[in-house]
Amino acid sequence: MWQTQWRSQLPELLAREWDVIVVGGGITGAGILLEAARRGLRAILVEQRDFAWGTSSRSSKLVHGGLRYIKEGKLLLTRDSVKERENLMTEAPGLVDPQSFAFADYEGRKPGRWMFAAGLAIYDWMAGSSSRHYYPAGEFRMLAPHIPEKDLKGGLCYTDAKTDDARLVMRVLQEAVQAGGVAVNYMAVTGLLRDATSNNVNSVTVTDALISARYQARAKVVINATGAWADGLRKLQGQAPKLRPLRGSHLTLPQWRLPVAQAVSLMHPADGRPVFIFPWEGVTLVGTTDVDHSENLQVEAAITPQEVSYLMQALHFQFPQLALTLDDVIATYAGVRPVIDTGKADPSKEGRDHAVWLEDGLLTVTGGKLTTFRLIALDALKHAAAMLPGWHANLDAQPIFRESKPLPHNLGLNTYQTQRLQGRYGAAAVELIACAHGGELEVIGGTDTLWAELRWCARNEAVLHLEDLLLRRTRLGLQLRGGGIDEMAHIRKICQTELRWSDDQWKAEETAYFALWQRCYQLPSRESIPAWQHAA
Ligand SMILES: Cc1cc2nc3c(=O)[nH]c(=O)nc-3n(C[C@H](O)[C@H](O)[C@H](O)COP(=O)(O)OP(=O)(O)OC[C@H]3O[C@@H](n4cnc5c(N)ncnc54)[C@H](O)[C@@H]3O)c2cc1C
Repeated sequence: MWQTQWRSQLPELLAREWDVIVVGGGITGAGILLEAARRGLRAILVEQRDFAWGTSSRSSKLVHGGLRYIKEGKLLLTRDSVKERENLMTEAPGLVDPQSFAFADYEGRKPGRWMFAAGLAIYDWMAGSSSRHYYPAGEFRMLAPHIPEKDLKGGLCYTDAKTDDARLVMRVLQEAVQAGGVAVNYMAVTGLLRDATSNNVNSVTVTDALISARYQARAKVVINATGAWADGLRKLQGQAPKLRPLRGSHLTLPQWRLPVAQAVSLMHPADGRPVFIFPWEGVTLVGTTDVDHSENLQVEAAITPQEVSYLMQALHFQFPQLALTLDDVIATYAGVRPVIDTGKADPSKEGRDHAVWLEDGLLTVTGGKLTTFRLIALDALKHAAAMLPGWHANLDAQPIFRESKPLPHNLGLNTYQTQRLQGRYGAAAVELIACAHGGELEVIGGTDTLWAELRWCARNEAVLHLEDLLLRRTRLGLQLRGGGIDEMAHIRKICQTELRWSDDQWKAEETAYFALWQRCYQLPSRESIPAWQHAA
Protein backbone atom coordinates (compact mmCIF):
# COMPACT_ATOMS: atom_id res chain seq x y z
CA MET A 1 0.00 0.00 0.00
CA TRP A 2 2.98 2.32 0.35
CA GLN A 3 3.67 2.82 -3.35
CA THR A 4 4.54 6.26 -4.75
CA GLN A 5 2.03 9.00 -3.87
CA TRP A 6 0.24 6.75 -1.37
CA ARG A 7 -0.31 9.63 1.04
CA SER A 8 -2.51 11.44 -1.48
CA GLN A 9 -5.14 8.76 -0.79
CA LEU A 10 -5.24 9.52 2.93
CA PRO A 11 -8.23 11.93 3.01
CA GLU A 12 -10.37 9.32 1.24
CA LEU A 13 -9.05 6.45 3.38
CA LEU A 14 -9.59 8.28 6.65
CA ALA A 15 -13.14 9.21 5.68
CA ARG A 16 -14.20 5.55 5.43
CA GLU A 17 -16.26 3.82 8.13
CA TRP A 18 -13.81 1.70 10.12
CA ASP A 19 -14.46 -1.06 12.62
CA VAL A 20 -11.21 -0.49 14.49
CA ILE A 21 -8.75 2.39 14.70
CA VAL A 22 -5.48 1.26 16.27
CA VAL A 23 -3.42 4.12 17.67
CA GLY A 24 0.31 3.35 17.82
CA GLY A 25 2.61 1.72 15.27
CA GLY A 26 4.79 -0.37 17.59
CA ILE A 27 4.64 -4.15 17.86
CA THR A 28 1.42 -4.06 19.92
CA GLY A 29 -0.45 -1.94 17.38
CA ALA A 30 0.95 -3.93 14.46
CA GLY A 31 -0.13 -7.20 16.10
CA ILE A 32 -3.65 -5.89 16.72
CA LEU A 33 -3.95 -4.61 13.14
CA LEU A 34 -2.95 -8.01 11.78
CA GLU A 35 -5.21 -10.06 14.05
CA ALA A 36 -8.16 -7.72 13.39
CA ALA A 37 -7.70 -7.53 9.60
CA ARG A 38 -7.34 -11.27 9.12
CA ARG A 39 -10.59 -11.76 11.08
CA GLY A 40 -12.53 -9.60 8.69
CA LEU A 41 -12.51 -6.29 10.55
CA ARG A 42 -11.97 -3.04 8.62
CA ALA A 43 -8.94 -1.85 10.55
CA ILE A 44 -6.58 1.11 10.24
CA LEU A 45 -3.47 1.92 12.28
CA VAL A 46 -2.09 5.42 12.78
CA GLU A 47 1.37 6.18 14.17
CA GLN A 48 2.44 9.67 15.24
CA ARG A 49 6.05 9.30 14.03
CA ASP A 50 7.44 6.35 12.13
CA PHE A 51 6.47 2.68 12.43
CA ALA A 52 8.43 1.20 15.37
CA TRP A 53 9.69 4.68 16.30
CA GLY A 54 8.76 4.08 19.96
CA THR A 55 10.02 1.30 22.20
CA SER A 56 9.69 -1.38 19.53
CA SER A 57 12.93 -0.38 17.79
CA ARG A 58 14.84 0.17 21.03
CA SER A 59 14.48 -3.11 22.91
CA SER A 60 17.22 -5.59 23.79
CA LYS A 61 16.07 -7.54 20.71
CA LEU A 62 15.57 -10.77 22.61
CA VAL A 63 12.61 -13.02 22.02
CA HIS A 64 12.78 -14.72 25.34
CA GLY A 65 10.94 -16.19 28.27
CA GLY A 66 12.73 -13.89 30.67
CA LEU A 67 14.58 -16.03 33.16
CA ARG A 68 14.33 -13.37 35.80
CA TYR A 69 10.53 -13.61 35.79
CA ILE A 70 10.85 -17.16 37.11
CA LYS A 71 12.76 -15.80 40.09
CA GLU A 72 9.93 -13.29 40.62
CA GLY A 73 7.36 -16.12 40.53
CA LYS A 74 5.84 -14.89 37.23
CA LEU A 75 5.52 -18.39 35.85
CA LEU A 76 2.57 -17.69 33.54
CA LEU A 77 4.37 -14.79 31.86
CA THR A 78 7.46 -16.95 31.41
CA ARG A 79 5.44 -19.88 30.07
CA ASP A 80 3.61 -17.71 27.53
CA SER A 81 6.84 -16.05 26.47
CA VAL A 82 8.70 -19.34 26.04
CA LYS A 83 5.83 -20.73 23.93
CA GLU A 84 5.77 -17.62 21.76
CA ARG A 85 9.54 -17.78 21.36
CA GLU A 86 9.22 -21.33 20.06
CA ASN A 87 6.37 -20.38 17.68
CA LEU A 88 8.19 -17.36 16.28
CA MET A 89 11.43 -19.27 15.71
CA THR A 90 9.48 -21.89 13.76
CA GLU A 91 7.46 -19.39 11.74
CA ALA A 92 10.08 -16.80 10.96
CA PRO A 93 13.60 -18.22 10.81
CA GLY A 94 15.92 -15.47 9.65
CA LEU A 95 13.94 -12.92 11.67
CA VAL A 96 13.66 -14.73 15.00
CA ASP A 97 16.68 -16.98 15.47
CA PRO A 98 18.10 -19.08 18.28
CA GLN A 99 20.84 -17.44 20.31
CA SER A 100 22.99 -19.47 22.68
CA PHE A 101 23.84 -17.84 25.99
CA ALA A 102 26.76 -18.51 28.31
CA PHE A 103 26.62 -17.77 32.04
CA ALA A 104 29.87 -18.08 33.98
CA ASP A 105 29.85 -19.80 37.39
CA TYR A 106 32.42 -18.26 39.76
CA GLU A 107 33.29 -19.32 43.29
CA GLY A 108 31.16 -17.26 45.71
CA ARG A 109 29.24 -15.36 42.98
CA LYS A 110 25.43 -15.40 42.82
CA PRO A 111 23.37 -17.03 41.45
CA GLY A 112 25.41 -20.20 41.77
CA ARG A 113 25.27 -23.18 39.44
CA TRP A 114 22.34 -24.93 41.12
CA MET A 115 20.11 -21.90 41.46
CA PHE A 116 20.65 -20.94 37.81
CA ALA A 117 20.23 -24.53 36.62
CA ALA A 118 16.94 -24.84 38.51
CA GLY A 119 15.58 -21.75 36.69
CA LEU A 120 16.76 -23.16 33.37
CA ALA A 121 15.16 -26.53 34.09
CA ILE A 122 11.77 -24.79 34.46
CA TYR A 123 12.49 -22.83 31.29
CA ASP A 124 13.28 -25.98 29.33
CA TRP A 125 10.25 -27.79 30.71
CA MET A 126 8.03 -24.94 29.49
CA ALA A 127 9.60 -25.09 26.01
CA GLY A 128 9.25 -28.88 25.91
CA SER A 129 12.92 -29.30 25.02
CA SER A 130 16.27 -29.16 26.77
CA SER A 131 18.92 -26.64 25.80
CA ARG A 132 20.93 -26.27 29.02
CA HIS A 133 24.33 -27.72 29.67
CA TYR A 134 26.97 -27.16 32.37
CA TYR A 135 30.58 -27.05 31.16
CA PRO A 136 33.65 -27.35 33.39
CA ALA A 137 35.99 -24.31 33.45
CA GLY A 138 38.38 -25.54 30.70
CA GLU A 139 35.60 -26.09 28.17
CA PHE A 140 33.63 -23.05 29.22
CA ARG A 141 36.63 -20.77 28.59
CA MET A 142 36.58 -21.87 24.95
CA LEU A 143 32.89 -21.05 24.68
CA ALA A 144 33.27 -17.65 26.36
CA PRO A 145 36.83 -16.47 25.72
CA HIS A 146 38.26 -13.31 27.35
CA ILE A 147 36.40 -13.75 30.64
CA PRO A 148 38.46 -13.73 33.88
CA GLU A 149 39.82 -17.17 34.80
CA LYS A 150 40.31 -16.57 38.51
CA ASP A 151 37.78 -18.57 40.59
CA LEU A 152 35.97 -19.78 37.44
CA LYS A 153 34.32 -23.11 38.24
CA GLY A 154 32.58 -23.60 34.91
CA GLY A 155 29.49 -22.23 33.24
CA LEU A 156 26.01 -22.91 31.94
CA CYS A 157 24.91 -22.57 28.34
CA TYR A 158 21.30 -22.34 27.27
CA THR A 159 19.34 -21.16 24.25
CA ASP A 160 16.98 -18.21 23.83
CA ALA A 161 16.25 -16.18 20.69
CA LYS A 162 16.99 -12.78 19.15
CA THR A 163 15.41 -10.64 16.46
CA ASP A 164 15.54 -7.31 14.71
CA ASP A 165 12.72 -5.60 16.58
CA ALA A 166 11.93 -2.86 14.03
CA ARG A 167 11.94 -5.38 11.18
CA LEU A 168 9.64 -7.61 13.23
CA VAL A 169 7.17 -4.71 13.36
CA MET A 170 7.52 -4.15 9.59
CA ARG A 171 7.02 -7.84 8.85
CA VAL A 172 3.85 -7.96 10.98
CA LEU A 173 2.60 -4.78 9.28
CA GLN A 174 3.32 -6.31 5.88
CA GLU A 175 1.16 -9.32 6.82
CA ALA A 176 -1.55 -7.00 8.15
CA VAL A 177 -1.62 -4.97 4.93
CA GLN A 178 -1.84 -8.20 2.90
CA ALA A 179 -4.85 -9.15 5.03
CA GLY A 180 -6.56 -5.85 4.18
CA GLY A 181 -5.35 -3.63 7.04
CA VAL A 182 -4.16 -0.07 6.49
CA ALA A 183 -1.12 1.40 8.28
CA VAL A 184 -0.23 5.09 8.20
CA ASN A 185 2.88 6.65 9.73
CA TYR A 186 3.38 10.30 10.70
CA MET A 187 -0.30 10.61 11.63
CA ALA A 188 -0.94 11.49 15.30
CA VAL A 189 -4.20 11.16 17.18
CA THR A 190 -4.72 14.56 18.73
CA GLY A 191 -8.33 14.33 19.89
CA LEU A 192 -10.93 11.77 20.97
CA LEU A 193 -14.71 12.03 20.64
CA ARG A 194 -17.22 9.89 22.51
CA ASP A 195 -20.56 8.80 21.09
CA ALA A 196 -23.36 10.06 23.37
CA THR A 197 -25.48 6.90 22.96
CA SER A 198 -22.94 4.07 23.19
CA ASN A 199 -20.49 6.05 25.34
CA ASN A 200 -17.70 4.53 23.20
CA VAL A 201 -14.91 6.63 21.74
CA ASN A 202 -15.85 6.30 18.09
CA SER A 203 -14.13 9.22 16.45
CA VAL A 204 -10.62 10.60 16.54
CA THR A 205 -8.95 13.73 15.26
CA VAL A 206 -5.74 12.88 13.45
CA THR A 207 -3.04 15.32 12.41
CA ASP A 208 -0.71 14.61 9.50
CA ALA A 209 2.74 15.46 10.87
CA LEU A 210 4.08 16.18 7.38
CA ILE A 211 1.58 18.76 6.21
CA SER A 212 -0.22 19.62 9.48
CA ALA A 213 -3.56 18.69 7.90
CA ARG A 214 -6.29 17.51 10.26
CA TYR A 215 -8.90 14.86 9.65
CA GLN A 216 -11.69 13.13 11.54
CA ALA A 217 -11.75 9.32 11.41
CA ARG A 218 -14.60 7.16 12.70
CA ALA A 219 -14.67 3.59 14.01
CA LYS A 220 -16.71 1.34 16.29
CA VAL A 221 -13.67 0.84 18.53
CA VAL A 222 -10.57 2.92 19.15
CA ILE A 223 -7.65 1.00 20.64
CA ASN A 224 -4.95 2.97 22.40
CA ALA A 225 -1.81 0.88 21.73
CA THR A 226 0.62 3.69 22.40
CA GLY A 227 2.88 1.86 24.86
CA ALA A 228 4.75 4.22 27.16
CA TRP A 229 2.66 7.08 25.68
CA ALA A 230 -0.67 5.48 26.67
CA ASP A 231 -1.30 7.94 29.51
CA GLY A 232 -1.19 10.75 26.92
CA LEU A 233 -4.40 9.60 25.22
CA ARG A 234 -5.97 8.57 28.52
CA LYS A 235 -5.32 12.09 29.79
CA LEU A 236 -7.44 13.50 26.94
CA GLN A 237 -10.33 11.67 28.67
CA GLY A 238 -9.40 13.06 32.09
CA GLN A 239 -7.86 9.80 33.36
CA ALA A 240 -5.08 9.85 35.96
CA PRO A 241 -1.70 8.41 34.87
CA LYS A 242 -1.04 4.71 35.51
CA LEU A 243 2.34 4.19 33.86
CA ARG A 244 5.88 4.44 35.14
CA PRO A 245 8.13 5.02 32.11
CA LEU A 246 11.45 3.23 32.65
CA ARG A 247 14.40 3.86 30.38
CA GLY A 248 16.72 1.12 29.17
CA SER A 249 19.84 1.96 27.17
CA HIS A 250 22.33 0.00 25.07
CA LEU A 251 25.76 0.31 23.50
CA THR A 252 26.93 -1.21 20.23
CA LEU A 253 30.58 -2.16 19.72
CA PRO A 254 32.43 -3.71 16.79
CA GLN A 255 32.55 -7.48 16.92
CA TRP A 256 36.31 -7.52 16.43
CA ARG A 257 36.75 -5.53 19.69
CA LEU A 258 34.18 -7.49 21.68
CA PRO A 259 34.10 -10.88 19.99
CA VAL A 260 31.41 -13.01 21.59
CA ALA A 261 30.60 -16.28 19.88
CA GLN A 262 27.78 -16.85 22.37
CA ALA A 263 25.72 -14.27 24.14
CA VAL A 264 27.21 -13.67 27.56
CA SER A 265 24.85 -12.95 30.42
CA LEU A 266 26.05 -11.67 33.76
CA MET A 267 24.77 -10.08 36.92
CA HIS A 268 25.95 -6.48 37.11
CA PRO A 269 28.48 -6.09 39.95
CA ALA A 270 26.80 -2.91 41.20
CA ASP A 271 23.21 -4.07 41.60
CA GLY A 272 22.88 -7.71 40.51
CA ARG A 273 20.71 -6.84 37.49
CA PRO A 274 21.15 -9.02 34.40
CA VAL A 275 23.24 -7.56 31.58
CA PHE A 276 23.47 -9.21 28.13
CA ILE A 277 26.26 -8.96 25.60
CA PHE A 278 25.53 -10.62 22.28
CA PRO A 279 26.34 -10.67 18.58
CA TRP A 280 23.67 -8.89 16.57
CA GLU A 281 23.69 -8.09 12.87
CA GLY A 282 27.43 -7.56 12.59
CA VAL A 283 27.96 -5.70 15.88
CA THR A 284 28.00 -6.63 19.57
CA LEU A 285 25.10 -5.29 21.61
CA VAL A 286 25.45 -4.47 25.32
CA GLY A 287 22.48 -3.75 27.56
CA THR A 288 20.55 -2.80 29.41
CA THR A 289 19.79 -0.34 32.16
CA ASP A 290 16.47 0.12 33.97
CA VAL A 291 15.95 3.62 35.39
CA ASP A 292 13.05 6.01 35.86
CA HIS A 293 12.51 8.21 32.81
CA SER A 294 10.98 11.51 33.82
CA GLU A 295 11.81 13.43 30.62
CA ASN A 296 9.19 14.65 28.16
CA LEU A 297 8.14 11.59 26.17
CA GLN A 298 7.78 13.61 22.96
CA VAL A 299 11.54 14.15 23.03
CA GLU A 300 13.48 11.13 21.81
CA ALA A 301 15.19 9.31 24.68
CA ALA A 302 18.99 9.14 24.86
CA ILE A 303 21.49 7.33 27.04
CA THR A 304 22.75 9.32 30.03
CA PRO A 305 26.41 9.58 31.13
CA GLN A 306 25.57 7.48 34.22
CA GLU A 307 24.14 4.69 32.08
CA VAL A 308 27.23 4.65 29.86
CA SER A 309 29.38 4.29 32.96
CA TYR A 310 27.15 1.47 34.30
CA LEU A 311 27.41 -0.53 31.05
CA MET A 312 31.15 0.08 30.71
CA GLN A 313 31.58 -1.17 34.28
CA ALA A 314 29.77 -4.40 33.34
CA LEU A 315 32.05 -4.83 30.32
CA HIS A 316 35.20 -4.32 32.39
CA PHE A 317 33.94 -6.70 35.04
CA GLN A 318 33.27 -9.47 32.50
CA PHE A 319 36.03 -8.79 29.96
CA PRO A 320 38.91 -7.08 31.80
CA GLN A 321 41.47 -8.45 29.35
CA LEU A 322 39.91 -6.62 26.42
CA ALA A 323 40.55 -3.19 28.04
CA LEU A 324 37.58 -1.69 26.23
CA THR A 325 37.34 2.10 26.14
CA LEU A 326 34.73 4.64 25.09
CA ASP A 327 36.51 4.83 21.72
CA ASP A 328 35.24 1.33 21.04
CA VAL A 329 31.59 2.34 21.21
CA ILE A 330 29.99 2.69 17.76
CA ALA A 331 26.57 3.92 18.83
CA THR A 332 24.06 3.99 21.68
CA TYR A 333 20.29 3.90 21.89
CA ALA A 334 17.67 4.29 24.59
CA GLY A 335 14.08 3.11 24.86
CA VAL A 336 11.28 3.61 27.35
CA ARG A 337 9.41 0.65 28.80
CA PRO A 338 5.68 0.91 29.28
CA VAL A 339 5.48 -0.41 32.84
CA ILE A 340 2.41 -0.29 35.07
CA ASP A 341 3.22 1.81 38.14
CA THR A 342 2.74 0.00 41.44
CA GLY A 343 5.05 2.32 43.36
CA LYS A 344 7.93 -0.11 43.94
CA ALA A 345 11.10 1.57 45.21
CA ASP A 346 13.28 -0.39 42.78
CA PRO A 347 12.14 0.15 39.16
CA SER A 348 13.36 -3.34 38.20
CA LYS A 349 10.85 -4.86 40.63
CA GLU A 350 7.85 -3.44 38.71
CA GLY A 351 5.91 -6.15 36.82
CA ARG A 352 6.28 -6.54 33.04
CA ASP A 353 2.82 -7.96 32.27
CA HIS A 354 0.52 -6.20 29.85
CA ALA A 355 -2.76 -4.60 30.92
CA VAL A 356 -6.03 -3.87 29.11
CA TRP A 357 -8.31 -1.13 30.45
CA LEU A 358 -11.68 -0.02 29.11
CA GLU A 359 -12.21 3.51 30.45
CA ASP A 360 -14.87 5.91 29.20
CA GLY A 361 -15.20 4.00 25.95
CA LEU A 362 -11.45 3.99 25.17
CA LEU A 363 -9.71 0.61 25.11
CA THR A 364 -6.09 0.87 26.20
CA VAL A 365 -3.56 -1.94 25.92
CA THR A 366 -0.09 -1.35 27.23
CA GLY A 367 2.86 -2.97 28.97
CA GLY A 368 4.06 -6.47 28.19
CA LYS A 369 6.87 -7.53 25.92
CA LEU A 370 7.84 -7.71 22.30
CA THR A 371 7.93 -11.51 22.61
CA THR A 372 4.26 -11.90 23.54
CA PHE A 373 2.81 -9.43 21.02
CA ARG A 374 0.43 -11.98 19.45
CA LEU A 375 -1.13 -12.89 22.82
CA ILE A 376 -1.43 -9.22 23.75
CA ALA A 377 -3.15 -8.46 20.42
CA LEU A 378 -5.63 -11.30 20.88
CA ASP A 379 -6.37 -10.20 24.43
CA ALA A 380 -7.06 -6.66 23.21
CA LEU A 381 -9.46 -7.99 20.55
CA LYS A 382 -11.27 -10.15 23.15
CA HIS A 383 -12.00 -6.96 25.06
CA ALA A 384 -12.92 -5.09 21.86
CA ALA A 385 -15.41 -7.79 20.80
CA ALA A 386 -18.11 -6.47 23.15
CA MET A 387 -18.00 -3.16 21.27
CA LEU A 388 -18.29 -4.82 17.84
CA PRO A 389 -21.88 -6.10 17.61
CA GLY A 390 -22.27 -9.03 15.23
CA TRP A 391 -18.54 -9.86 15.17
CA HIS A 392 -17.88 -13.33 16.56
CA ALA A 393 -14.46 -14.31 15.28
CA ASN A 394 -12.40 -17.19 16.61
CA LEU A 395 -9.67 -15.60 18.69
CA ASP A 396 -7.43 -18.63 19.05
CA ALA A 397 -3.79 -17.99 18.18
CA GLN A 398 -2.91 -18.64 14.52
CA PRO A 399 0.49 -18.51 12.82
CA ILE A 400 1.57 -14.90 12.33
CA PHE A 401 3.49 -15.27 9.08
CA ARG A 402 2.45 -16.82 5.78
CA GLU A 403 4.93 -19.15 4.18
CA SER A 404 6.84 -17.53 1.36
CA LYS A 405 8.45 -18.94 -1.77
CA PRO A 406 12.05 -20.02 -1.20
CA LEU A 407 14.67 -17.82 -2.88
CA PRO A 408 16.65 -19.26 -5.76
CA HIS A 409 20.04 -20.75 -4.86
CA ASN A 410 22.06 -19.18 -7.66
CA LEU A 411 22.20 -15.63 -6.31
CA GLY A 412 25.63 -15.83 -4.75
CA LEU A 413 24.13 -15.47 -1.27
CA ASN A 414 24.98 -17.92 1.49
CA THR A 415 22.34 -19.85 3.46
CA TYR A 416 22.42 -17.37 6.35
CA GLN A 417 21.86 -14.42 4.00
CA THR A 418 19.03 -16.14 2.16
CA GLN A 419 17.25 -17.05 5.36
CA ARG A 420 17.82 -13.60 6.80
CA LEU A 421 16.19 -11.94 3.78
CA GLN A 422 13.25 -14.32 3.84
CA GLY A 423 12.73 -13.85 7.55
CA ARG A 424 12.91 -10.08 7.38
CA TYR A 425 11.03 -9.45 4.15
CA GLY A 426 8.82 -12.54 3.79
CA ALA A 427 7.16 -12.78 0.37
CA ALA A 428 8.84 -9.50 -0.67
CA ALA A 429 12.35 -11.01 -0.49
CA VAL A 430 12.05 -12.14 -4.12
CA GLU A 431 11.23 -8.59 -5.24
CA LEU A 432 14.04 -7.21 -3.10
CA ILE A 433 16.54 -9.38 -4.90
CA ALA A 434 15.04 -8.53 -8.26
CA CYS A 435 15.38 -4.78 -7.67
CA ALA A 436 19.12 -4.98 -6.83
CA HIS A 437 21.45 -3.17 -9.20
CA GLY A 438 24.99 -4.40 -9.84
CA GLY A 439 26.96 -4.93 -6.63
CA GLU A 440 23.95 -4.36 -4.37
CA LEU A 441 23.82 -7.96 -3.18
CA GLU A 442 27.09 -7.25 -1.35
CA VAL A 443 26.96 -6.63 2.40
CA ILE A 444 27.63 -3.18 3.80
CA GLY A 445 30.96 -3.60 5.64
CA GLY A 446 30.62 -4.22 9.40
CA THR A 447 26.95 -5.19 9.10
CA ASP A 448 24.84 -8.06 7.75
CA THR A 449 22.75 -5.65 5.64
CA LEU A 450 22.83 -5.79 1.83
CA TRP A 451 22.93 -2.56 -0.17
CA ALA A 452 19.82 -3.79 -1.99
CA GLU A 453 17.80 -3.60 1.24
CA LEU A 454 18.22 0.17 1.19
CA ARG A 455 16.85 0.39 -2.35
CA TRP A 456 13.90 -1.88 -1.67
CA CYS A 457 12.94 -0.22 1.62
CA ALA A 458 13.27 3.27 0.13
CA ARG A 459 10.95 2.23 -2.70
CA ASN A 460 8.34 0.22 -0.80
CA GLU A 461 8.28 0.86 2.93
CA ALA A 462 6.79 4.30 3.58
CA VAL A 463 10.15 5.98 4.23
CA LEU A 464 9.38 9.64 4.81
CA HIS A 465 12.59 10.74 6.51
CA LEU A 466 16.17 9.53 6.23
CA GLU A 467 16.08 8.44 9.89
CA ASP A 468 13.25 5.98 9.02
CA LEU A 469 15.55 4.28 6.53
CA LEU A 470 18.76 4.27 8.58
CA LEU A 471 17.42 3.66 12.09
CA ARG A 472 14.43 1.36 11.55
CA ARG A 473 13.99 -0.13 8.01
CA THR A 474 17.71 -0.90 8.19
CA ARG A 475 19.72 -0.50 11.41
CA LEU A 476 22.79 1.16 9.89
CA GLY A 477 22.61 4.03 12.37
CA LEU A 478 23.36 1.53 15.17
CA GLN A 479 25.97 -0.42 13.23
CA LEU A 480 28.13 2.13 11.43
CA ARG A 481 30.48 4.65 13.00
CA GLY A 482 29.25 8.22 12.89
CA GLY A 483 25.78 6.94 11.97
CA GLY A 484 27.10 5.96 8.51
CA ILE A 485 28.80 9.21 7.58
CA ASP A 486 31.43 7.42 5.45
CA GLU A 487 28.78 5.45 3.57
CA MET A 488 26.38 8.37 3.04
CA ALA A 489 27.43 9.17 -0.53
CA HIS A 490 26.76 5.57 -1.55
CA ILE A 491 23.46 5.48 0.35
CA ARG A 492 22.42 8.66 -1.44
CA LYS A 493 23.34 7.22 -4.83
CA ILE A 494 21.04 4.27 -4.24
CA CYS A 495 18.17 5.95 -2.44
CA GLN A 496 17.70 9.54 -3.58
CA THR A 497 15.92 8.66 -6.82
CA GLU A 498 13.90 5.91 -5.15
CA LEU A 499 12.68 8.43 -2.60
CA ARG A 500 12.11 11.11 -5.28
CA TRP A 501 13.89 13.69 -3.15
CA SER A 502 15.46 16.80 -4.71
CA ASP A 503 19.08 17.66 -3.88
CA ASP A 504 17.86 20.25 -1.36
CA GLN A 505 15.52 17.77 0.30
CA TRP A 506 18.28 15.17 0.52
CA LYS A 507 20.64 17.71 2.11
CA ALA A 508 17.99 18.79 4.62
CA GLU A 509 17.26 15.14 5.52
CA GLU A 510 20.94 14.38 5.91
CA THR A 511 21.44 17.36 8.21
CA ALA A 512 18.40 16.42 10.31
CA TYR A 513 19.50 12.78 10.52
CA PHE A 514 23.03 13.56 11.69
CA ALA A 515 21.73 16.11 14.22
CA LEU A 516 19.41 13.44 15.63
CA TRP A 517 22.17 10.83 15.59
CA GLN A 518 24.49 13.12 17.53
CA ARG A 519 21.79 13.97 20.05
CA CYS A 520 20.42 10.49 20.72
CA TYR A 521 22.65 7.79 19.24
CA GLN A 522 26.22 8.76 20.02
CA LEU A 523 27.95 8.86 23.40
CA PRO A 524 27.32 11.89 25.60
CA SER A 525 30.34 14.20 26.01
CA ARG A 526 33.30 12.31 27.45
CA GLU A 527 33.72 14.77 30.34
CA SER A 528 30.18 14.08 31.54
CA ILE A 529 30.65 10.29 31.84
CA PRO A 530 31.53 9.27 35.42
CA ALA A 531 34.61 7.04 35.78
CA TRP A 532 33.54 3.46 36.26
CA GLN A 533 34.87 1.13 38.88
CA HIS A 534 37.24 -1.45 37.46
CA ALA A 535 37.01 -5.14 38.34
CA ALA A 536 39.02 -6.13 41.40
C1 LIG B 1 15.37 -1.15 26.98
C2 LIG B 1 14.28 -2.12 26.67
C3 LIG B 1 14.58 -3.44 26.40
C4 LIG B 1 13.57 -4.34 26.09
N1 LIG B 1 13.92 -5.59 25.74
C5 LIG B 1 12.98 -6.48 25.39
C6 LIG B 1 13.36 -7.75 24.91
O1 LIG B 1 14.55 -8.06 24.77
N2 LIG B 1 12.38 -8.62 24.61
C7 LIG B 1 11.05 -8.31 24.72
O2 LIG B 1 10.22 -9.17 24.45
N3 LIG B 1 10.66 -7.08 25.14
C8 LIG B 1 11.60 -6.16 25.45
N4 LIG B 1 11.25 -4.89 25.84
C9 LIG B 1 9.83 -4.55 25.89
C10 LIG B 1 9.29 -4.22 24.49
O3 LIG B 1 10.24 -3.54 23.73
C11 LIG B 1 8.02 -3.38 24.61
O4 LIG B 1 7.14 -4.00 25.49
C12 LIG B 1 7.32 -3.23 23.28
O5 LIG B 1 8.21 -2.79 22.28
C13 LIG B 1 6.18 -2.23 23.42
O6 LIG B 1 5.54 -2.13 22.18
P1 LIG B 1 4.32 -1.16 22.01
O7 LIG B 1 3.85 -1.30 20.61
O8 LIG B 1 3.32 -1.39 23.07
O9 LIG B 1 4.91 0.29 22.25
P2 LIG B 1 5.81 1.23 21.23
O10 LIG B 1 6.68 0.37 20.44
O11 LIG B 1 6.37 2.26 22.06
O12 LIG B 1 4.69 1.78 20.27
C14 LIG B 1 3.79 2.78 20.67
C15 LIG B 1 3.72 3.79 19.54
O13 LIG B 1 2.64 4.67 19.77
C16 LIG B 1 2.96 5.90 19.15
N5 LIG B 1 2.07 6.94 19.65
C17 LIG B 1 2.11 7.53 20.88
N6 LIG B 1 1.14 8.46 20.97
C18 LIG B 1 0.48 8.48 19.76
C19 LIG B 1 -0.60 9.25 19.25
N7 LIG B 1 -1.21 10.18 19.98
N8 LIG B 1 -1.00 9.01 17.96
C20 LIG B 1 -0.39 8.05 17.20
N9 LIG B 1 0.65 7.32 17.66
C21 LIG B 1 1.08 7.51 18.93
C22 LIG B 1 4.42 6.09 19.53
O14 LIG B 1 5.07 7.00 18.66
C23 LIG B 1 4.97 4.67 19.44
O15 LIG B 1 5.63 4.43 18.22
C24 LIG B 1 12.22 -3.94 26.12
C25 LIG B 1 11.91 -2.61 26.41
C26 LIG B 1 12.93 -1.70 26.65
C27 LIG B 1 12.62 -0.28 26.90
